[in-house]
Amino acid sequence: MKNILVIAETFQGKIRKTSLPAVTFAAELAGKVGGEFSIALFGSGVAGLAGELTGFGAKNVYVVDAPGFANYLGGPWAKAVVALAQQAGATAVAAVSDTFSRDLLPRVAARMGAGMVSETTAIVGDGAGVKFQRPMWAGNVLGTVEVRTPTAVFGVRGTDFDPPKATGGASAVQNASIAFADDGKATYVKFEPTVSARPDLAEAAVVISGGRGLKDAAGFALLNPLADMLKAAIGATRAVVDAGICPNDLQVGQTGRVVAPQLYFAVGLSGAIQHVAGMKNSKVIVAINKDEEAPIFSVADYGLVGDAFKILPELTDAIRKHKGL
Ligand SMILES: Cc1cc2nc3c(=O)[nH]c(=O)nc-3n(C[C@H](O)[C@H](O)[C@H](O)COP(=O)(O)OP(=O)(O)OC[C@H]3O[C@@H](n4cnc5c(N)ncnc54)[C@H](O)[C@@H]3O)c2cc1C
Repeated sequence: MKNILVIAETFQGKIRKTSLPAVTFAAELAGKVGGEFSIALFGSGVAGLAGELTGFGAKNVYVVDAPGFANYLGGPWAKAVVALAQQAGATAVAAVSDTFSRDLLPRVAARMGAGMVSETTAIVGDGAGVKFQRPMWAGNVLGTVEVRTPTAVFGVRGTDFDPPKATGGASAVQNASIAFADDGKATYVKFEPTVSARPDLAEAAVVISGGRGLKDAAGFALLNPLADMLKAAIGATRAVVDAGICPNDLQVGQTGRVVAPQLYFAVGLSGAIQHVAGMKNSKVIVAINKDEEAPIFSVADYGLVGDAFKILPELTDAIRKHKGL
């Protein structure tokens, strides 16, 4: 796994910043095994974005720009990624674990006959003895795994690796001629984005999550004034989603989104292990819960014990005054 190919994602004509911690992973792995890494950009009309990726120490930035790649389709994309990896002499492929790569990477691994580490959170050791950490059992266990196949595929936990640092050098941009091979098994129909004035959960600097303690939609709406003021994304526990109070794309946790904002508010939620698995890497955690024994306090930096219906408006008001709004 000496030469690593990182897949950078694009969305609506822009590079998804949340896909770039995979570059940091690849740079670290290349350093530890004495190899090098390159970045791949797939899409239609994406060639102009390559310059944004040339300053991170990659040997090459490969651009696969063709109309067929305008929208993601698992089969043809996996075939194309493997073809590019072969052309580039890459023995490992890496991408940040998200909806896109969780579909793509296992297909790539199967085609390459490669061992795969999903949700990689750390690289341990170096050289031939390099190993990888990944959470198991909703983060209760941290497994250390080794890849024994000559090729490898890595899903990288984006919240455990920093965004890549500028190195000063410039990577060579290479236009790769990889054809889009339609396998006829699936057809792209349409993409229906969630329309929201709030930032995306994975990209927001502040996330405010509510739990069952907020009771109903009216209680949950108490989060809005604070979120508006802090330009925060809103998250929820599975209990709230299951109760139909929130759509499931707001769910944070093991079976929802994994977030690591600068500031995370946990309001009226208990801190079940499956929820904590999705937010424990947040830089500062503030918990509001009426039960002082609630598990969320064990991961919180600041805890407010009390009734969220009383505390939340008071806190919102105090922050508003502090900001002079
Ligand atoms: C396989 C599996 C996967 C799962 N994946 C996820 C996941 O991805 N994300 C997720 O969130 N959960 C997930 N769960 C569910 C998880 O186990 C919990 O059931 C869920 O997180 C609990 O949600 P909650 O904290 O909102 O509710 P509760 O656990 O019921 O907690 C409510 C909290 O609100 C507090 N409270 C009540 N009233 C007030 C008030 N007035 N003021 C302040 N505090 C108050 C209570 O003290 C309590 O701590 C998963 C479960 C399983 C089995």
